Amino acid sequence: MPGYKRVLLKLSGEVFGGGKVGVDPDVVHKIAEEIAAVARSGTQIAVVTGGGNFFRGAELQQRGMDRVRADYMGMLGIVMNCLALQDFLEKLGVETRVQTAITMGQVAEPYIPRRAIRHMEKGRVVIFGAGMGMPFFSTDTVAVQRALESRCEVVLVAKSGVDGVYSADPKRDPDAVKYDDLTYDRAIAEGLAIMDQTAFTLCSENNLPMIVFGMDVEGSILRAVQGERIGTLVHS
Ligand code: UDP
Repeated sequence: MPGYKRVLLKLSGEVFGGGKVGVDPDVVHKIAEEIAAVARSGTQIAVVTGGGNFFRGAELQQRGMDRVRADYMGMLGIVMNCLALQDFLEKLGVETRVQTAITMGQVAEPYIPRRAIRHMEKGRVVIFGAGMGMPFFSTDTVAVQRALESRCEVVLVAKSGVDGVYSADPKRDPDAVKYDDLTYDRAIAEGLAIMDQTAFTLCSENNLPMIVFGMDVEGSILRAVQGERIGTLVHS
């Protein structure tokens, strides 16, 4: 099997909360075990976490908050997921570094791309937090940007409750079909909402492949890293 040398894993906030607000330690422990298996396999891995289990700026805006301030709250929420993941990874003996796009020296390193690459080369898992540090972005787009800047070969999008990209939401539409393989142009044209459109565009323009897969089956992350064709491959 071919396998990848360096990957970027995107975990949405929902995964951390096990469907609830906040962090579910048991769930994070399981995710950490999967990431530890990847690190031990010799593949370099960086992680971008979302923060939807705490705050989403757009939702707070709908309830009357200023969007910019709400987005900053969203970014701070993301950091809590990063710290939880760091904690469980280190308990498993995996070296980690959290780098945040909003400087907070007491809890994390600032985002320094060349240093992030160096950490990965040393076998450390790098966790990128606080999104892009800018309102109006989503962590999907951040995942692609960080993957490009830290020269990852693929963006792995691990999902809970769904095992790939479908023609429609499989929970709502019984006729939805799963794609094994899909171009970014088609994903954008069909308005497939599994990732945001900016993320698709950035990948497409830079020829960066993405694999969207379910993480409900144990070992899925390692399987995807090792090049097994699971989920949906999205490409230019
Ligand atoms: N956010 C932001 N800029 C960024 C990344 C995130 O403003 O670069 C804010 C935004 O409010 C977003 C929230 O952080 O709703 C949580 O991120 P996201 O919704 O992408 O998390 P996910 O859906 O992956 O859990």
